[in-house]
Amino acid sequence: MSFVIRTSSARSAAWRAALSALAPDLDIRIWPDVGDPDAVTHLLTWKPPSDLMTRFPNLRAVFSEGAGVDQFLSLDLPDSVSLVRIVDPALTDMMVEYGVWATLALHRQAPAYRRLQAAHDWRPLTQPLARDRRVGVLGLGVLGTALLRRLHLFGFPCAGWSRGTHVIDGVTCFAGQDALAAFLNRTDILICLLPLTDETRGILSARTFAALPQGAGVINCGRGGHVVEADLMAALESGHLSHAILDVAGQEPPPADHPFWDHPAITLTPHVASHTTPASAAHQVVDNLRRLQAGQTPVGLVNRGRGY
Ligand code: NDP
Repeated sequence: MSFVIRTSSARSAAWRAALSALAPDLDIRIWPDVGDPDAVTHLLTWKPPSDLMTRFPNLRAVFSEGAGVDQFLSLDLPDSVSLVRIVDPALTDMMVEYGVWATLALHRQAPAYRRLQAAHDWRPLTQPLARDRRVGVLGLGVLGTALLRRLHLFGFPCAGWSRGTHVIDGVTCFAGQDALAAFLNRTDILICLLPLTDETRGILSARTFAALPQGAGVINCGRGGHVVEADLMAALESGHLSHAILDVAGQEPPPADHPFWDHPAITLTPHVASHTTPASAAHQVVDNLRRLQAGQTPVGLVNRGRGY
């Protein structure tokens, strides 16, 4: 039984150190030096090779190096292989930081003040109270729920939307397609924290933007594939949306001539909202190895039918 790490060399070294400290007996191999491919039972990676199963016929589990797994869904892994994602407090905390930063930036009109500064214009804008700014998060999973719990502390009226029913203190929860329009109608700042699946691809579309109130802001921390880029540009050009903060893009990095780079109503960050810290996440991985060995369900097991 061997555990293969396939990521950048710096991250591979950090993973090896963190995993070895917790599980000294684990036979860790760093790609491409994997030893006997028949002995490989576990793989941790962000970018899986397409020939995974022919390369490692005895694979039992694949660990995504992050919280998302959309890049694994086309692999058609057999049912005997568990696909597990990272669920880790450090990753969650980092996403909460980003979500709070982006929400407060829109709430406190940072993009407008940036423009005023560029024009050397010292001019206060009308500032609504947090209690008058309605925040809504698409996705009530590990990350969306943690972010809403924090945003609630600022006094924003908070809501979230998910597939199934959720109950979260201080958060109005909407579930399913039938409730999406009502959720959007009451949302001044919309944050996407959905996984990218066949059902959620393109969800940030003209229809969604039209259902938001005039002047709403959008923050996308999910995946670039959630956004219909032409629809976003049109909604910003018309002024229906005031600003978009995008941590992800359909192509990363976007091509040099992509309109996202220079649009005054877009703030772009290079997919940095959160990332996995091996020293923290290794605890989940080692715990999951023990669970798998004991025939228990690992934390973060992906339901491949749903795609998350
Ligand atoms: P979870 O799997 O914990 O939560 C996913 C949520 O999305 C659930 O609430 C689920 O609903 C909801 N959902 C999924 N499909 C639908 C649908 N069709 N309709 C309505 N709701 C749906 O994921 P996490 O919170 O851990 O992560 C969310 C995403 O954040 C990741 O998949 C990844 O894409 C992104 N991410 C981005 C990062 C960045 O740096 N930009 C870093 C880390 C993650 P239900 O609860 O009812 O099942």
